[in-house]
Amino acid sequence: MTRPSTHKVAIVTGASRGIGAAVAQRLARDGFAVAVNYASSPAQAYALVAELTAAGGRAIAVKADVARGDEVRAMFDVVEAQLGKVDVLVNNAGVLKTLPLAEHSDAQYDQSFDINVRGTFNTLREAAARLNEGGRIVNFSSTTLALNMPGYAIYNATKAAVEAFTHVFAKELRGRSITVNAVAPGPIATSLFLDGKTEEQVQAFAKMPPLQRLGQPEDIASVVSFLAGPDAGWVNGQILRANGGLA
Ligand code: NAP
Repeated sequence: MTRPSTHKVAIVTGASRGIGAAVAQRLARDGFAVAVNYASSPAQAYALVAELTAAGGRAIAVKADVARGDEVRAMFDVVEAQLGKVDVLVNNAGVLKTLPLAEHSDAQYDQSFDINVRGTFNTLREAAARLNEGGRIVNFSSTTLALNMPGYAIYNATKAAVEAFTHVFAKELRGRSITVNAVAPGPIATSLFLDGKTEEQVQAFAKMPPLQRLGQPEDIASVVSFLAGPDAGWVNGQILRANGGLA
């Protein structure tokens, strides 16, 4: 068995790329031992772990489809055995299918809810039993929930569920000194946002916030770092929109 870490331990779901990878990099810089969860991008997850380790950090890659309760349980087992008990859970893994409600297939609906909602449920349920006292949970909503744009009904419904989990779970953990918050990013330049959009559509989104640019993964990583760190100890049950002032 690997030596348990003297660092605090963070799990970042969906950390192989995009915002999750930036969160893993930032939390490693903050001094956490980081579990880089991935589902289908092992090469990127292991490359990130190599980068974090080369920089002097402690990191492991853990495969788990967050939609699967058994895989999430096994992920916590591996992390506890290799890094130690978990202090911070970042529920970043998510998918976006932009499509009118009436055009969604059953399979597309199921995929969105399985990953975004059941995936968050699975890790929260596990965290309830396993997180260290004084721990931190950061869920992922989206600013799209405030915009009500056509094509976002199913995605927004999944993020509304995540916001509901956040408010109630914060109260259910009374007495454990664990905070539960969510970050709700505006448009961030990752494949989730960029794929399938024309350059014109991307530019239109970039002009929406008064800061007149797309967000970068690091803009969100710094918010997660705050919520996961000592300075956010009195912030609990909140949704923090980070979107350049878009909504
Ligand atoms: P992304 O670039 O598409 O990355 C998604 C990540 O989620 C990948 O690492 C992927 O890992 C992982 N993932 C997908 N399905 C998974 C599953 N079943 N189990 C475990 N991991 C899974 O997306 P992103 O833009 O970074 O988005 C991250 C979060 O921010 C999501 O919750 C998203 O809804 C939210 N968000 C994003 C934006 C935006 O504009 N980008 C705005 C608001 C909110 P694999 O490749 O290994 O499968």
